[in-house]
Amino acid sequence: MSEMRYPLVESFYTLQGEGFWAGQPAYFLRLGGCDVGCSWCDTQHSWPLQGWPLYTAQELLSCVAATPARHVVITGGEPTLHPLGELIQTLQAAGYFVQLETSGAYPLPELCPDWVTFSPKRFKPPEPLYYERANELKVVIHAPSDLKWAEEQRKRCRPSIPAFLQPDFYRQDQALEWILEHIKAHPWWRLSLQWHRYLNLP
Ligand code: SF4
Repeated sequence: MSEMRYPLVESFYTLQGEGFWAGQPAYFLRLGGCDVGCSWCDTQHSWPLQGWPLYTAQELLSCVAATPARHVVITGGEPTLHPLGELIQTLQAAGYFVQLETSGAYPLPELCPDWVTFSPKRFKPPEPLYYERANELKVVIHAPSDLKWAEEQRKRCRPSIPAFLQPDFYRQDQALEWILEHIKAHPWWRLSLQWHRYLNLP
């Protein structure tokens, strides 16, 4: 097996704060690098591709295994910038449930995670395969026009998957109002809030 090394921005054990798995204890691996360029991005510090400490999949597994976590979230940045197959395989072989959070800007890893949280962004169109393979859809709402775009995204996904609208945290009050009205009128959506921010969790 090759010695792929992954740039790690940060890692921490906490509770998932968003989407379908909200409330689930999870170990987060935040990988460096993103070129999607969302104007409202809340993790801009993770955009650089280089300059982060590099870890092998086995070393990352050791970090996870030092906690009681059973659920691992690979996030970013945009984690699909990296060949994730080795990391996913290593974690799954050790019995972990692997959730990938991605905008879908780059191809899906050759070894599929257990759960794909697909959060497409207007700033960089996703790879078409994500619409078929997503286990959940999560769209961040920053402006009223995002709601129409979210509907277009949902129509392209499998109708059975859970679909979430999540307010941009920095426009929380306004965006939440738009979302609540929209969900009541379009009840195939659910609300996702970033609980970790309210609870001051990482
Ligand atoms: S895809 Fe994610 S990390 Fe990249 S700019 Fe958008 S919100 Fe930020």
